[in-house]
Parts: sequence; structure tokens; C-alpha cells
Amino acid sequence: MGLRSSEAIVIGGHNLGEADRIVVFYTRSYGKVRAVAAGARRIRSRFGGSLELFTHGHLVYFERPNSDLHRLNEFALREPYHTLRTSLELLTAASEVVELGGMAGVEGEGSENLFALIGGTLRALNTGVQPSVILRAFEIRLLRTLGYLPELGKCVRCRGGLPEGIQSFGLNEGGLLCPACRAEAIETMPVSPPALGFLRMTLGRDMDLSRVSLDPEVREELRSVLQTFLELKLGRRIRSTRFLAGITGFSLDTSLSH
Ligand SMILES: [Zn+2]
Repeated sequence: MGLRSSEAIVIGGHNLGEADRIVVFYTRSYGKVRAVAAGARRIRSRFGGSLELFTHGHLVYFERPNSDLHRLNEFALREPYHTLRTSLELLTAASEVVELGGMAGVEGEGSENLFALIGGTLRALNTGVQPSVILRAFEIRLLRTLGYLPELGKCVRCRGGLPEGIQSFGLNEGGLLCPACRAEAIETMPVSPPALGFLRMTLGRDMDLSRVSLDPEVREELRSVLQTFLELKLGRRIRSTRFLAGITGFSLDTSLSH
């Protein structure tokens, strides 16, 4: 049993037995790590409140060979991101970030880019400003990090130019389609000029998202196309976002346990 340590973010967890808890981390060095926190639910637990969802800290765990469930030794809190728990909107947004992080993350395989993206997005959400804009930027950057960046500059199928105006996003093709190719595509979604402008801008540079202005219908359009494409690529439904959409049966405890 070897001791391992890494910077980490709590992305999920569920109770185990009488007093223990299984905590899911996304770590900088080892990707997704699941570890048992013995006695975590006791009042005088040595972990205190550090194992709360979204908490950023430094993780030390005993690796159990041939098992994907390790033993938590220590989690030193760096940033609790308290603001994320102060409103339903922020809680839901942050829940989507850790849920998608858990879906995208691989056990035992660290990704500097993915870790930075998850951590940076939680930090931005914790300011409480423009959570939906921050989430849309997270989604398109996550697609890029995972190697699924959609083609937004020319027709993804024939490499031809795109006309002005509203574009067609081919879900199976993974990018925008010219009118001729669109006619042969099975499933497309519209992308308006302001939505496309936002995607290109967000990918182009690290910008101050608190100053971006997007109409409600453009936000909804972006949410719809990005989440549909992410679900297709990850092969799973995003559960946390459906919470606000009125789907019942959601529980932070179970739905984020991965
Ligand atoms: Zn084409």
C-alpha cells in the first residue's frame, strides 16, 4: 500500500456503513480518485467539514493496488468555496461542473488541463457573477480539453465556407455544416451569430466572463447545443442541470457519486 498525494477537488461522495464516507476527488496528478474516509460522519471526525462537495485541498491517500477504492489519509483544505452553497443557481452550476468533471475524468490518469478547468470554473462561479455564462464557457472548453472541439470556422464535412447568418450544427458530424451538407445531416441544431461569436471568443483567449453580455435566448440556445453535444460525446445524461428543469429524484448525495 503506497502513500500518494496530490492537489484535489471534492467532486462527489456517498455514505458508507454507519460512520464512513466514500469521497470522489478529481486530482491534479492521478485524475479521478475514490477513497474511503473512515469515521468521516462522526461528530469529532478528524476530517471536519473539509470533505464537502467542491472543496479544493491537498489530498493524501493510501493506494490500494488492484482496487479503485483507496483509503483517505488526509485532506488539507485550501479553498472551501462557500459561496457556491448560498444559492440554488450557484449550487446547480457548480454541481454540473463536478458532475461533468467526474464523467470526463479518468481514474489513475491526471490531466493538468482538466484539473485547471474544473478549479478555475469553480473559482469563477464562487464570485457569484454570471454563473450561466461561466458554465457555457466551461462546457465549450471542456469539449476542447477532451478533444471534441467542434469545427466552428468552416463546414466540418466538405471543408467549404459557411454563409452569413444562422448556422447549423451537425451533432454527429461535430461542427457547423454548409447548406448542402446540412441537407444530408440527420440531426442538426441552430446556432445564431451571437451564440457563435460567444463560442469563438471564449475559445480564443482567457477573458473576463463577468463582463460578457448575452441575451436570455442566446444563453438558452448555447446551453441546449453544448449540453446535447456533450451528452452525445460522453454517452451519458447530465443530471444536475435537469434539477432546475423540474426533473425529480435528484439528490446531490447520490447523483454525484459517479
Ligand atoms: Zn459542407
